[in-house]
Amino acid sequence: MFKVHLGFPKNRRPDGALRVRESWQEQFAEAPDVLLGARRQRTIVRVRDFAIGGDEFVTMAGPCSVESERQLMNTAYHVRRAGARVLRGGAFKPRSSPYSFQGLGLEGLRLLAAAREETGLAIVTEVMTEHDVPLVAEHADILQIGSRSMENYTLLEAAARSGRPILLKRGMMATIADLLRSAQVILSNGNPNVILCERGIRTFETSMRNTFDAAGIALLKQITHLPVIADPSHAAGHRELVPALARIGIAAGADGLLVEVHPDPDKAWSDGEQSLDFETFAAMMAALAPSIKLRESSLREEKLKDSENAGIRLAGAAA
Ligand code: PEP
Ligand code: MN
Repeated sequence: MFKVHLGFPKNRRPDGALRVRESWQEQFAEAPDVLLGARRQRTIVRVRDFAIGGDEFVTMAGPCSVESERQLMNTAYHVRRAGARVLRGGAFKPRSSPYSFQGLGLEGLRLLAAAREETGLAIVTEVMTEHDVPLVAEHADILQIGSRSMENYTLLEAAARSGRPILLKRGMMATIADLLRSAQVILSNGNPNVILCERGIRTFETSMRNTFDAAGIALLKQITHLPVIADPSHAAGHRELVPALARIGIAAGADGLLVEVHPDPDKAWSDGEQSLDFETFAAMMAALAPSIKLRESSLREEKLKDSENAGIRLAGAAA
């Protein structure tokens, strides 16, 4: 009779779930539900008629701030044509300078909701305080927690309870463990739909706005079951670098991108330096298509391996 191999690969539990190596389990022990192995499958966040963290690579694009109906609608149509699924745009803006534009507030939310009606794109927008959560949740499909708010647990709890998926941006001074603790707060408050976002961290380097932590993306994909989005715009701070960082993000294993796009970046009310115009965004998306295809075929291979392993386990159980 042919003999079946009964041993399980080291990184799998007996029930087949992937698990994280022990030293990482210790290091991230305060975020147990976020780690691979906490559940059998990767988290797939469903939004409208698509999903984040599954086979499809999802691009979120749009202006840093919502400025006007014309600016937003124009951007929405262009990013949709270039392949984006989600329209981003800040209505409540956390700014480094208290003298900078702080966002259109409710008017911005209304414009975002109108752009969704017009284009079918889903909406992601930032919520800055727990008081605004119901209002933002009413208008947006995904709530963004900004870098400056990542450790505001009161806000995280309120956002979690809204039931909306949450795009959790890594704090600019946050370690991976800090990021995962914040994700744990959301999960612990009954919301499993967390999308992590790497947007660059502060280092001693000053020639870019932040330092893009591509290794952080690779690590997150190794240790958590949550989807990971790369934000090359805030990481770079300079639009020339955005396409390269986007490609690196995909290669590191990201499930999608968050990119700032503006009809006339030099006139943008915020983050114009790092925003792409329509033409550059469309060219970047076309140039990224082969990398995205490659990602999709390696995901397929991974799944095949998984089902082969499952077959071995089944055969093992039957023997
Ligand atoms: C933004 O997305 O426009 C933003 C403010 O991002 P971050 O919180 O990463 O700085
Ligand atoms: Mn911005």
